[in-house]
Amino acid sequence: MRPSLIVGNWKMNGSRAENSKLLASLKAQLANVVDAELAVCVPFVYIPQVSEFLEGSKLSYGAQDVSVHVDGAYTGEVSPSMLNDFGCRYVIVGHSERRQYHKESDLLVAQKALAAFQGKLVPIVCLGETLEQREAAETLDVISRQLHSIQAVLSDELMSKLVIAYEPVWAIGTGLTASPEQAQEVHSFIRQKLGSAGDKVPLLYGGSVKASNAKALFSKPDIDGALVGGASLDADEFIRIAKAVQ
Ligand code: PEP
Repeated sequence: MRPSLIVGNWKMNGSRAENSKLLASLKAQLANVVDAELAVCVPFVYIPQVSEFLEGSKLSYGAQDVSVHVDGAYTGEVSPSMLNDFGCRYVIVGHSERRQYHKESDLLVAQKALAAFQGKLVPIVCLGETLEQREAAETLDVISRQLHSIQAVLSDELMSKLVIAYEPVWAIGTGLTASPEQAQEVHSFIRQKLGSAGDKVPLLYGGSVKASNAKALFSKPDIDGALVGGASLDADEFIRIAKAVQ
């Protein structure tokens, strides 16, 4: 059976004091979540704080981006092995905010996924269409192109160890959520495109997930969890989302 996974993407939010409160509250409520693995992906600078705070806890953590390079003259970048050094399990790659604001191409995203595996991390690869693409009925073509770039770079073995997040760009941070049916249609398409890896890869949905819509999304057969932005900054809400997995 595929594991259920709920990942919080803190984006560029937090402070040492706020993180301590959020993590303490998450830790205190972790025992109430039995059916899903939980993880938080935090800004680079807070990884040591999170690592110390979560030592011995079953809450996993990771980063929101990673370099394709192993080491060297790449000012400002953080390598996969550095993240691994601080106990990160996951790294988000290809988030639409990085594709949009940092012009990350499909190829670069695929190379980052490979670099993450080489650094013993699990990449959470984000795929998703813009509103214009959805309205032009291009959703499945866009997803197919983004996924194909990953498949062209990763071996079959690595493809089966990946996590994929379908995040329609129009639903991120907007309060608009894909309906469970819209999300299921794309998840089932991704699952089929994954071939034999499809049975193993957790497919997360992301885009304005809240406790109030989580249960309906998770009731769909190909939605294995969620990548949660804004709502992951509220411990009670994040735990309620995780408890919606059955
Ligand atoms: C995200 O940042 O990946 C995300 C899905 O954000 P939000 O939940 O705020 O829409």
